[in-house]
Amino acid sequence: AFKKDTVLVIFGASGDLAKKETFPALFGLYSEGALDPSTKIICYARSNITVQKIREMCLPYCRKSTTGNDEAKMKEFFKMVSYVQGAYDTDDGYIRLRDEIESFEAERGVTEPHRVFYLAVPPSIFLTVAGQVKKNVYAENGITRVIVEKPFGDDLESSREMQKGFKPLFRPEEIFKIDHFLGKDDVRRLLTVRFANPFLNQSWNKDNIESVQVWFKEPFGAEGRGGFFDSTGIIRDVMQNHLLQILTLATMEEPVANNADAIRDAKVDLLKCMEPLGPENIVALGQYGRSVDGTKPSYLDDDTVLNKKSKCLTFTELTFAIHNDRWEGVPIVMRAGKGLDEDRVEIRIKYKKNTSGMFKGCTPNEFVIHFHPKPTIYMTFNTKAPGFDDKLHQINLDMTYAQEYKKDWVPEAYECLIKDAFLGNSANYVRDDELDVSWALFTPLLKYVEGPNAPEPEIYPYGSTGPKGILE
Ligand code: NAP
Repeated sequence: AFKKDTVLVIFGASGDLAKKETFPALFGLYSEGALDPSTKIICYARSNITVQKIREMCLPYCRKSTTGNDEAKMKEFFKMVSYVQGAYDTDDGYIRLRDEIESFEAERGVTEPHRVFYLAVPPSIFLTVAGQVKKNVYAENGITRVIVEKPFGDDLESSREMQKGFKPLFRPEEIFKIDHFLGKDDVRRLLTVRFANPFLNQSWNKDNIESVQVWFKEPFGAEGRGGFFDSTGIIRDVMQNHLLQILTLATMEEPVANNADAIRDAKVDLLKCMEPLGPENIVALGQYGRSVDGTKPSYLDDDTVLNKKSKCLTFTELTFAIHNDRWEGVPIVMRAGKGLDEDRVEIRIKYKKNTSGMFKGCTPNEFVIHFHPKPTIYMTFNTKAPGFDDKLHQINLDMTYAQEYKKDWVPEAYECLIKDAFLGNSANYVRDDELDVSWALFTPLLKYVEGPNAPEPEIYPYGSTGPKGILE
C-alpha cells in the first residue's frame, strides 16, 4: 500500500530529465489520483532557481489529465513541492535537506519515515550523492529507496565498479535502477500476453518459430546530442539495455511466481543462455551520412560531434542464439538505427512455413508487437479470400491499444516506474546480476567495435532503411 507522508527528494531537479520526465510523471500520477496528496516533494540542485521556475520548465512536457481541470490540479500539486539549494559533494546542503525532511515528518507526526531519493544527476556524481544520502538523510527508523537513472556503467568493469560503490551504502532492495522501457505499459504487458494466453507460449519454440527479430528505428539522428552520443553509440544507447529487455521478456521461461525476484530470476536464467557477442555476430555496422536530397546532415557534419573521424555506430544489426531447449537453433536478430526511414520499435516472432497438407507452403504467420509509436499487437492470419474459389488471403488480427483502451488512462513509463518505487515493487527495475550478464554479453562486442582495429562503419543515407543490403 502507498505510505502516507512519503518524502521524495529529486537531486538534479534543475535538469533535463527532471523537466521532461520526472515532474510530468509526478504531475500525471497526481492528476489521475495515483499520487497520495500527503506526499512531500523536495527538489535539490545547485542552481539558484525556484519552484515556480521548475513549474514553468516542466509545463510544456505535462500531459492533459483524463478528468480535466489541470490548471487547478497543477496549483495543488506544486503546493507539495519545495526547493533546497545545495552542492552535491559537501554536507551543508544535505543538512538543510535533512532539516526540511525532518520538520515535514515532525509536523505530520511520522514515526516510520518513508524517503525516496531520485538521482536525476549525471552518473559521474551518482556515488557522491548516494554517499551523502546515506550519511545525512537515510531513514534510520524507516524505509529508504534510491532511484538511479541509467547509464549503469559503460561496460562490465565500470558497471561492477558502480555496483561496488553502492553496495556498502544500500541493501539491494533499497536500490531501483531504471530502464525506462520496463516502465512502458506495452512492455509490461509482454508477460501477460505470453503467459495468460498459453497457446502463444506453447508455440513459441524452435519447433514452430523461424526467427525472433527486435527492431528499433529512429527517423532522426544525433542532432545536437552528438557529444553524448559519440561516447555512447547505438549499442549502449538502446541495444544492451532496452532491446535486450524486450527480447528477454519475449523469450524467457515463465517465472515461478508473479513477484520481482521470480521475474528477474527468469530473466537472468535466459540471459545466461546467450554467449558473449563478438565479430561473428555482426550482420551490419553503419553510420548515417547526408540524406540523398542533401537536406539532412551526416552524423559527422553535426556540430556537436567533435571527432570528425568518429567511427561511432548509429546502426547495428546482430544475429545470435539462445542456447536452451526452447530456442536452440532459432536465429535471434537485433537491429537498431538512427537517421532511418521511420519511427518504430517492435518485436516480430516469425513462424515457420507450413510444410505439409492442403496449404503447404502458404505464407507463414507472424506475431508482431509494436511498442512505438502506436502500441499494437497483431498476428498475420491466413484465411480464404471472398468469392467462389479457395484463394488464400492474409489478414491481420489486430489489437491497437488506443482503440481498445479509448477511455482508459494508460500510464506513461515514468509514471509506472515512480509509482512502483513508491510501493517498493522492483519487478520492473534492473537487478545487478541482470546488469552483469547483459554487460558480459555486450562488452566483447563493444571492445571490438571501439578498439584499435575497429571496422569502418558502412555509411548509409539519412532517411534510408539503413546500410546497403539490410532489408526488412
Ligand atoms: P543534466 O540536465 O545534465 O543534469 C541534471 C542536473 O545535474 C543539472 O541540472 C545540474 O544541476 C546537475 N549537474 C549537471 N552536470 C553536473 C556535474 N558535472 N556535476 C554536478 N552536477 C551536475 O542531466 P539529465 O539529462 O537531467 O540526466 C540526469 C540523469 O538521467 C543522467 O544520469 C542521465 O544519464 C539520465 N537520463 C536522462 C535522460 C534525459 O532525457 N535527459 C534520459 C534517460 C536517462 P545543478 O547545476 O542545478 O545542480
